[in-house]
Amino acid sequence: MPMPKRPLVIAPDPGLKQQAAAVGRVDADVRRLMDEMLETMYAATGIGLAAPQVGVLKRVIVVDVSPANLPAQPYRMADPVITWASAELVTGEEGCLSLPEQYADVTRPARISVRYRDEADAERELDADGLLAKCIQHEIDHLDGILFVDHLSTLKRGIILRKLAKAKKLASVAA
Ligand SMILES: [Zn+2]
Repeated sequence: MPMPKRPLVIAPDPGLKQQAAAVGRVDADVRRLMDEMLETMYAATGIGLAAPQVGVLKRVIVVDVSPANLPAQPYRMADPVITWASAELVTGEEGCLSLPEQYADVTRPARISVRYRDEADAERELDADGLLAKCIQHEIDHLDGILFVDHLSTLKRGIILRKLAKAKKLASVAA
């Protein structure tokens, strides 16, 4: 039976600006949350999703950057912590399921190590580079109330947030 999907929180929304709480132990409830988040992410053709984006203020993220023509390679991470980041930076375009149709270049460390608890509550450490490193950093930002636009200049951020606020207003009028 497919897992139910959860509605996405769209910016601007105060729920996306909060600090999420540590999970501590991955139990059946957290596992279900991880699976529902993956289902929601795949349905929206995203490559990462953080729990605050489905209205849950817990430190849980899911990521799958595998190409569409290859088997899925999902990561389910609770309480992820970046334990090392390269001095080398890389700039690449980012988008976000909570900021529909908005894209901008963001600069981040090129490689990271991340420690987390997996769906079996085992502690794991992962070295990541490329798209995976970028995506994990973007999702962990969400757990601290940081959106990719917060890495941009005030001017660029303002333009994107005003577009989103306008789109939201139009949607509420149409509904
Ligand atoms: Zn995002």
